[in-house]
Amino acid sequence: MNTKTPSRAARNGAAEMAEFDYVIVGAGSAGCVLANRLSADGRHSVLLLEAGPKDSNIWIHVPLGYGKLFKDKTVNWMYQTEPEPGLDGRTVFQPRGKVLGGSSSINGLLYVRGQHEDYDRWRQHGNSGWGYDDVLPYFRKAEDQQRGADDFHGAGGPLPVSDWRHADPLSEAFVQAAAQTGIPVNPDFNGATQEGTGFFQTTTRRGRRASTAVAYLRPATARTNLRVETSALAQRIVFDGRRADAVEYRQAGNLRTARARKEILVSSGAYNSPQLLQLSGVGPAELLRMHGINVVLDAPGVGHDLQDHLQVRMVMRCSQRITLNDIVNHPIRRMLAGARYAAFRTGPLTIAAGTSGAFFKTSPRLATPDVQIHFLPFSTDKMGEKLHSFSGFSASVCQLRPESRGSLRIRSADAAVPPEIRINYLATEVDRTANVEGLKILRKILQAPALSSYVTEEIDPGPKVSTDEELLNYCRQRGSTVYHPTSTCRMGSDPLAVVDQRLRVRGIEGLRVVDGSIMPDLVSGNTNAAIIMIAEKASDMILAEA
Ligand SMILES: Cc1cc2nc3c(=O)[nH]c(=O)nc-3n(C[C@H](O)[C@H](O)[C@H](O)COP(=O)(O)OP(=O)(O)OC[C@H]3O[C@@H](n4cnc5c(N)ncnc54)[C@H](O)[C@@H]3O)c2cc1C
Repeated sequence: MNTKTPSRAARNGAAEMAEFDYVIVGAGSAGCVLANRLSADGRHSVLLLEAGPKDSNIWIHVPLGYGKLFKDKTVNWMYQTEPEPGLDGRTVFQPRGKVLGGSSSINGLLYVRGQHEDYDRWRQHGNSGWGYDDVLPYFRKAEDQQRGADDFHGAGGPLPVSDWRHADPLSEAFVQAAAQTGIPVNPDFNGATQEGTGFFQTTTRRGRRASTAVAYLRPATARTNLRVETSALAQRIVFDGRRADAVEYRQAGNLRTARARKEILVSSGAYNSPQLLQLSGVGPAELLRMHGINVVLDAPGVGHDLQDHLQVRMVMRCSQRITLNDIVNHPIRRMLAGARYAAFRTGPLTIAAGTSGAFFKTSPRLATPDVQIHFLPFSTDKMGEKLHSFSGFSASVCQLRPESRGSLRIRSADAAVPPEIRINYLATEVDRTANVEGLKILRKILQAPALSSYVTEEIDPGPKVSTDEELLNYCRQRGSTVYHPTSTCRMGSDPLAVVDQRLRVRGIEGLRVVDGSIMPDLVSGNTNAAIIMIAEKASDMILAEA
């Protein structure tokens, strides 16, 4: 094993320098997987750098706690897009995890891999080794499926995937209502087919969140060949010619340097990975020069092609006091829910970012679903804000494969300055139509017999909003993110692709990007599972070359 050796500068107390085989930047969904797998056999020394703190905030570990972390800057980057032309010039709040576990510590916990066809499309576009048959073994390797192993699922892996520990009449009624509109009931969105309605599974174990910090990093922290540094903000990658040599990071006011004997692995997420590459001189040359950054490689694709899932929510007033709004707004019921969770880890505090849901096609011409519905037995004006004072529930339309693409560009050569984020929601006709048609189908579900007795009134968008034009305007006025930015360091072989099929930055040695930014395009689901799979596969590729 190669051990870390502090440099003379470090021994003298100047800018500290240490050496490792691998330096990983970002302890998020992907970074924690890499840290575990690369340090597992003890042959390699690994440094994991994380800008945020340890995951000691108690709300991280309670599923419904995600509501408390939305605007908590101690664990959240709290980014904001530029004014979005497709959303009437509104800016959109973009929470991202800044803590061990990254966004997997603050996310909505849903475990949805996407469709088989997503990965076959990646392969079809020239990314051999990334078809569904190729990636399925990595989904299975990661997984500890509560229902046991089968052709699609693994058991005994680090990542627990569990059924919801609560029975909720509204969430049940949603599934029945969707079935009444002709959507088939599907007990497993991650099995043979995604299409249908049913309950989501979550990345939890016995009612507690399983972030990648909990599932992958904790079991590895006792290893002597793994060092984890928190509150360590990477400033730039240092190059020796076109070889990535070291990472410079700031920690407690000190500038430190960590050299990588083998590789630097950038896992800073879809916003911060392209930001770090640009800060380091790998990006669009005109942008780098504008900020006085020395160009190591003119790579116009870095920060290009940003994608995200939009969500447009409908809110219903409920005829019975059975929603989470009624529990949270009532001191005794709230206390009882807390006590129930403390005693049994069940009840409303186990609610994830969707209880039940559906995947359907907005047009019979489509081969696979293009819309996902997240149903929630509560309602609010904006996620992370106070729940409504009335009994309410909500469901949102999420177009699964948006065509619109945006960009990420640094605003400054200073790593602490947030980048400029443009997503370009609703830029294409396909995207606009899918959202409008999705809302029409969702409305039918919400009016179906199984749910109608629970509904006194449609609050948002309300019955006055009915034509296609009115529905589109509603999407523009109220649409927001489902928090799935990807594709800013896209895998491929075209001139704008940033990484190759082994996730190596093209034109650079000793540097890979491993996280959501490498997705050639968005998968048709929630992104955490796919990113964990990407990191599992990357670990195998890296170790095979070591
Ligand atoms: C509020 C919210 C809800 C979500 N809900 C779901 C859901 O229900 N299901 C689902 O599947 N997905 C969900 N997602 C998306 C999913 O969690 C993310 O796609 C995924 O976690 C991203 O993984 P990543 O490894 O690409 O990046 P991240 O997990 O974001 O990790 C990046 C890490 O790098 C660190 N970092 C960044 N820059 C630097 C730097 N310069 N130096 C050092 N460290 C740095 C960050 O602090 C962070 O810890 C949600 C996301 C959010 C924010």
